[in-house]
Amino acid sequence: MDCNLSINFKSAYDTRIFIKNDFTELKEILKESYDYNKKIFILTDLNIEPLYLSLLKDTLSDSDNTIISHTIPAGEENKTLETVNACYKILIDNSFGKSDLIIGLGGGVITDLAGFIAATFKRGMKLINIPTTLLAMCDASIGGKCGADFGSCKNSIGSIYFAQIVYMPVFTLKTLPAREYSSGIAEVLKAGLIKDAAFYEWMILNFSEIMEKEDAFVNEMIFKAVSIKQFFVTKDPFDKCERRMLNFGHTLGHALEEYFDYNLSHGECVALGIIAASNIAYKRQMLSKEEFYEIRDMFVPFNLPISLDDYDVEKAYSIISNDKKIDSNGLNFVLLKKIGKAVTVCDVTPEEIKEALKSLIVEWD
Ligand code: NAD
Repeated sequence: MDCNLSINFKSAYDTRIFIKNDFTELKEILKESYDYNKKIFILTDLNIEPLYLSLLKDTLSDSDNTIISHTIPAGEENKTLETVNACYKILIDNSFGKSDLIIGLGGGVITDLAGFIAATFKRGMKLINIPTTLLAMCDASIGGKCGADFGSCKNSIGSIYFAQIVYMPVFTLKTLPAREYSSGIAEVLKAGLIKDAAFYEWMILNFSEIMEKEDAFVNEMIFKAVSIKQFFVTKDPFDKCERRMLNFGHTLGHALEEYFDYNLSHGECVALGIIAASNIAYKRQMLSKEEFYEIRDMFVPFNLPISLDDYDVEKAYSIISNDKKIDSNGLNFVLLKKIGKAVTVCDVTPEEIKEALKSLIVEWD
């Protein structure tokens, strides 16, 4: 299934999204959208370079354009301002201007960095994202959020800057390691849980085809997840209100990510954050017992964690309380009213949060 979507803000922020099997249509799509006789800067990482960089360069090369690429080591620890500075230097040394193009070829680390460089260099270059992880396809590469980490403060420097085109070459998922694929599934399940119960049930019914990466199922899954993200982003591009639903599971998930020093993946922590947040909703009698256990247990077939060995709950909680303003009235939080329907509440108390974090600890007999 080939799909074309667009996020339409009736403004300069339109993003055209293409879900395609390979790179073959990319050049034509670019030619429709850009003056092609321009410079192109491709940012990628060391894992992706040997797999896809030459293929992408061969696809785009033309007698009239100049393509320069820069490869950084893979991993969150490289999502830094030092990396951004190194890219600025290359752009300046090669006389890039604001009408030239930057392409982020990679996972969310690369698309976040490429977006931030595009947003800031000469106050805004043209940006294309070519996501190669499931997480970047369904989440990071769309919706405009971009940035870098500052020390241990994740995503603390950033902007909202929309790519003109997001081109998803789905065949690249074949080389994605299983753990990274599962990490992306957590964001997909989140999308179903907050907005589309039928899609969530479809994921569960078809988990085996999805885990086998069967083309038709993977394409359908990406299309649905992107459509849900697009729904919230179109309503609230600058994250003032409705878009916050997409943070379901992330407040606790981010704290766990930092607590475990990024040894758990983003998606693994989001899965645990969703389970903990669902535990709060269950204790408040918003979710039934059956719904809570379904949400928890349905991460298992997707190879996502549902519990933790004993850990320091107070320490994990202190990460949240340092990060977010929690007063005696509680914290803004996304909870589920039922599967497929999220709401924001602003009265979740420190005790409820600590109890939910504690509920993740597995009790060994
Ligand atoms: P990632 O970019 O680190 O990629 C994961 C790993 O997979 C890396 O080692 C990468 O080299 C490798 N890889 C990527 N594509 C591959 C492929 N096709 N084949 C083989 N290996 C491949 O991680 P991610 O999970 O894609 O993204 C996580 C980042 O995204 C975090 O920094 C997070 O903050 C950010 N994020 C941003 C948003 C947003 O809205 N901007 C949303 C969610 C997450």
